[in-house]
Amino acid sequence: MTAANLLTLAQAAKALRARSLSARELTRACLDAIAKAGALNAFVTVTPERALADAERADARLAKGEARALEGIPLAIKDLFCTQGVKSTAASRILGEFVPPYESTVTEKLWAAGATLLGKANLDEFAMGSSNETSAFGPVVNPWRRQGDNRKLVPGGSSGGSAAAVAAGLCLGATGTDTGGSIRQPASLTGTVGIKPTYGRCSRYGIVAFASSLDQAGVFARDVADAAILLRETAGHDARDSTSAKLPVPDFAAAVEAGVKGLRIGIPKEYRVEGMPAEIEALWRQGMAWLKDAGAQAVDVSLPHTAMALPTYYIIAPAEASSNLARYDGVRYGLRVADDDLVTQYEKTRAAGFGKEVRRRVLIGTYVLSAGYYDAYYLKAQKVRALIARDFVDAFKACDLILAPTAPNAAFAMGEKADDPIGMYLNDVFTVPANLAGLPGLSVPAGLSAEALPLGLQLLGRPFDEATLFAAGREIERRAGLFPVSDRWWEAAP
Ligand code: GLN
Repeated sequence: MTAANLLTLAQAAKALRARSLSARELTRACLDAIAKAGALNAFVTVTPERALADAERADARLAKGEARALEGIPLAIKDLFCTQGVKSTAASRILGEFVPPYESTVTEKLWAAGATLLGKANLDEFAMGSSNETSAFGPVVNPWRRQGDNRKLVPGGSSGGSAAAVAAGLCLGATGTDTGGSIRQPASLTGTVGIKPTYGRCSRYGIVAFASSLDQAGVFARDVADAAILLRETAGHDARDSTSAKLPVPDFAAAVEAGVKGLRIGIPKEYRVEGMPAEIEALWRQGMAWLKDAGAQAVDVSLPHTAMALPTYYIIAPAEASSNLARYDGVRYGLRVADDDLVTQYEKTRAAGFGKEVRRRVLIGTYVLSAGYYDAYYLKAQKVRALIARDFVDAFKACDLILAPTAPNAAFAMGEKADDPIGMYLNDVFTVPANLAGLPGLSVPAGLSAEALPLGLQLLGRPFDEATLFAAGREIERRAGLFPVSDRWWEAAP
C-alpha cells in the first residue's frame, strides 16, 4: 500500500471518508516524512502540535460524517502568508520573529475547509528570487538529482519550499505566491503542478506584499485534479482586498475532465527565444501534439511585446517592492537595531534585516521612482505593460489558450547562477508576461530532461478562465504520465 503521505489529495480525502485512514495517521505520516527530510530545508517552521490538534478535530468531524472539502488534509503554507499565532517570516531576518495577530484570507479559507497546518514553507526572501537561495534561513534543496550526478539542485523560486515539500511527499498540497513566476517555475523544476490564478481570484489580504499589482496567491499539488480542488477552496471575493474580484468561483474540480475538443491552442512565435535548449523546444512540440490528440487545434499567435516583458517587470516589481518594504523600519514590528538617532536606527535595522537581493531590489526600485527617472523608467514601464496586456487580448481573439514552456531550463545546481543576477532573472522569461497582464497560468509536468529532471509546460488562459487551464492541463498530464513523487533523493543523498 502507498504510504499515506504519498497519496494524492483526492485519494486521501476518499480514504479519510471511508475511514480506512485517519487524519491523525495521515498527519503523522507527513510529520515523519518532514522529520526525515531535514536536508531539504523545505520548512522554516514545522508545527507538529498544531497539526495533530487540527487532525484530531478533523477525525471528530469525519466520525460524525461532517467532513468538509479538505477535512484532515495536511498542507504546507508558504511563509509569506500570515498565520495567526504562528511565526510568519517571509524568509527574512527583518520578520524573523514576527508572529502575526491575524490570519491571511487564503489560509483562513483552507482551515475553514478542514485542512491541517503542517508548517510554514521556506521561500526566497520576500519572494524575490528564482532558486530559493536568497532565504535568510538557508536554501531549499530540490528532491530531484541529475542522473549520475549527486550535486544538489535548486527547487526554483520563490516558492521553493512549497514545491519541494509537495515533490518529496512531505504534504498533500501547498500554497504559493506568484509575482513573476514563483509558483509556475518551481512547479516546473520539481515535477509538480502549480497554478497562478487570475489577478484578483484569490485575496492578497494577509500575504506579505512584494509587488502588489503583480502578486497572486495560488497552489501546488501532485496532480491537476488536486490543484483544482485546492484552488476552489482558496479563491473568492474578499472585502479586505480591494483588488479581489467579485466573481463566483466555479467548481474547478468538476472542470478537470472537461477535455479540450474543439479548443484553439495558441503557439506564440515570440516564445521561441534565442538559445532555447532543443529539449525544451521538443517538449513544447510534444505538448501541442498531445493536445491535438485530445481534439484541440493549434494556431499560431503573436505576442509582439514579449521581449520587453522582463525589463518591464524588473522596473515595476522593484518599484512596488521598494515602496512596500518601506514599512520595515524597526519601529512598529519586526527586527529593531536600536540607536539614539532615529535615522541611524532605520539604517541599521534595514541593513541588518534585509539580505543582498532585497537590498538590490530596494535600490533599483527607489532609483526608477526617483524624480528625474520616474518618467524615463517607471512611467515608460507602465505604458509597455499596457501593450503587453493588449497583446494577450488580441491573441485570445484567435485562440482559447496559449501553450508555452514554463521555464527555459530544468533545475540547476545550487550556486550555479548565484552570481549571475541576469541569468537568474532570465528564468522568468516565459512566466512574467502573465503577471504583467494579470492572466492565469498553470504549469504541468510534461517530461524529463536528458538528465532525467522534470520539465513543465505552461498553459495561459483568458482572465478568470482557470477552468479551461485545468481541463487542458489534465490532457497533458494524462499523456505525459504521472510523475513519481520524488523520493529519489533518499537514494541519492549522501
Ligand atoms: N523570480 C522572480 C523575481 O525574482 C519572481 C518572483 C515571484 O514571483 N515572487 O522577482
